[in-house]
Amino acid sequence: MSDDTKIGINEFQQLIKDIYFERDNARGAEGTFRWFIEEVGELARAMRGADRANLNEEFGDVLAWLVSLASIMGVDMQAAAAKYAHGCPKCGATPCACD
Ligand SMILES: [Zn+2]
Repeated sequence: MSDDTKIGINEFQQLIKDIYFERDNARGAEGTFRWFIEEVGELARAMRGADRANLNEEFGDVLAWLVSLASIMGVDMQAAAAKYAHGCPKCGATPCACD
């Protein structure tokens, strides 16, 4: 990797797990889902603004809450992303050729 701040999905899920899993898992899936939705709301507000740094931050927060929720639910996000590894899951094309 040319940029050491770049991180794969697996590494990111593990990193977030190391940082937050104990607390998020204790809160539970439903409570953590509510936090995730709250972050999605913050992303919606950031999209309406002109602050690019804030927009990047909110995308990062939404992703972090999503992968943390996945960890609580026992979902491997790398495996989940693999659904799209060979193009659109419906038509198999890249780019998607669905109607
Ligand atoms: Zn398609």
